Amino acid sequence: MVKRSEVRVEDTWDLSHIFSSLAEQELAQNKLQDDAADFVSRYRGQIESTTSAEFLVESWRDLEQLISDGTEVASYIFLDYSVDMINQEKMRRNMTTNNVISKIFSDISFYESELEKLPEELIRKAIELEAGSAKFFGDHLRERPHRLSAASEQLLTALNGATGSLPEQIYDSAKFADLSFPDFQVNGKKYPLSFASYEEYYWMHADTGIRREAFRVFSENLAKYRNTIATGYYSHVKQDVILAEKRSYENVFTYLLQDQQVEESLYHRQIDVTMDKLAPHMRKYAQKLGENWQLDRVTYADLKLPPLREKSISVSREKAEQLVLGALEIMGDEYRDLAKRAFEERWMDFAENEGKSTGGFCSSTMNTHPYILLNWTGQMPDVFTIIHELGHAAQAEISRKTNNALNASPSLYFIEAPSTFNETLMSQYLIRTSKDPDVERMVAAQMSSNTYYHNFVTHFLEAHWQREVYRAVAADQALTADDLDQLFLDTLQDFWGDDVEMTPGAERTWMRQPHYYRGLYSYTYSAGLTVATAVSLRIEKEGQAAVQDWLDTLALGGRKTPLELARNAGVDISTDKPLCDTIAYIGSLIDRL
Ligand SMILES: [Zn+2]
Repeated sequence: MVKRSEVRVEDTWDLSHIFSSLAEQELAQNKLQDDAADFVSRYRGQIESTTSAEFLVESWRDLEQLISDGTEVASYIFLDYSVDMINQEKMRRNMTTNNVISKIFSDISFYESELEKLPEELIRKAIELEAGSAKFFGDHLRERPHRLSAASEQLLTALNGATGSLPEQIYDSAKFADLSFPDFQVNGKKYPLSFASYEEYYWMHADTGIRREAFRVFSENLAKYRNTIATGYYSHVKQDVILAEKRSYENVFTYLLQDQQVEESLYHRQIDVTMDKLAPHMRKYAQKLGENWQLDRVTYADLKLPPLREKSISVSREKAEQLVLGALEIMGDEYRDLAKRAFEERWMDFAENEGKSTGGFCSSTMNTHPYILLNWTGQMPDVFTIIHELGHAAQAEISRKTNNALNASPSLYFIEAPSTFNETLMSQYLIRTSKDPDVERMVAAQMSSNTYYHNFVTHFLEAHWQREVYRAVAADQALTADDLDQLFLDTLQDFWGDDVEMTPGAERTWMRQPHYYRGLYSYTYSAGLTVATAVSLRIEKEGQAAVQDWLDTLALGGRKTPLELARNAGVDISTDKPLCDTIAYIGSLIDRL
């Protein structure tokens, strides 16, 4: 792989739209620190005793400005680091900026505690004066009944800084620093193995001998840290259970869902209905894999094979742009132009180089357009990644016009809806415009394996397991690595039945994901994808009216709850219909294979 310094300029993003130079960023960072100090001297001790709603609104505006400027200052440094993570200077710079930002957060944390002392009435008055503050003050009021005494909160904040993320840090250290994998051998030939190479390469390897042996050796070595990681994770879950109880939430799920603004029933329904209705389709998918690849039996180690044996289609950058813009045409000029600018003004970093962050992501701030990190290899799945990330970008770009830094992003529940929605647009477009009958199968393969298998099924299985773990710990059960293994195996067997052989090591899948340390995150992939699928099916049927509803929904940012956002887009997630429709749609894709 080439070094970052050898990458062509046209393959990189242009960060000068945020700051023209490092020197300019430094000036902004210094100013940010001064502004934060001003904020403290102006408001500390003043908020708790104020009787003026105007003063409160003013303080909220200053806070919003600080957050907004802070993300700009941090993202310039972070983005530059993310494409060259082995560069020590960039690494140091990123750490320094992170320290500056955390210090500011800790300095201004008095604000929430002081707000708490104010009568609710006064806060409501502030919301009336400035509608943009409704999200921030509303969140504060909703959390208020669950806050502990000032002394307890202070103690928790201090402890949280020291140990709150310890389980995740232990996990990361075990996974990235301590775990190592030996070479493995197939037919006398040696193959090097690492965590990344297993997940990005051997897992979908076309040679059955190599694929299964890689899985065996990978799982066997994963086991070296099973007790360490299990102990850390158990303590993480236990902590949530204790906090939920002390903060008087109904149960640990309502506690964890508070931020997402989602009813507990929606969470359970997503998991229960998927287990019940999607499993039969996916078992059929496993059978198709076995047929297409002529396997003796389908094992857990085979499930990530591409559904079709044909090589995927190569695509040039120019062709990718053409396809993306073509697929987005239905969204109207404004949306399409935004995508066009992303290509023309270098919002995207295409290069594949040493030390670059893997996969793809989109990062956005309030004052500049979003940036998209890619690892472009010139294959069809990359085109889907571009349009996926452009979905996040469009959401951010449309939202920042009418919202502020404190209400621009929607709930986690909704985060993957705009992005996966775009993937469905791409597949509809490819099928509509191609005269090649193989394209339909190729698209069905891409959608069922990447879009749906990966986002819907993988993360769903994690979510199902996670729920069982929380239930057990909430019922005062102590869980060891054996128990965590058994719960995962039970989940897999419930889902795949007798159609997939559970190779030893399958039960250790829980050790592979960092999502569990971020609350109830795993299930939101399928939740967002459900909204996305329902909207795209609606657009196919109703055309422009449905497009307009979707654009209006994106503009709402985080001002509404997921239920309201979906309703605004014409999708009623208070019932299980959108989910059942989505599952039926996945079934139809599998039939096309
Ligand atoms: Zn995404």
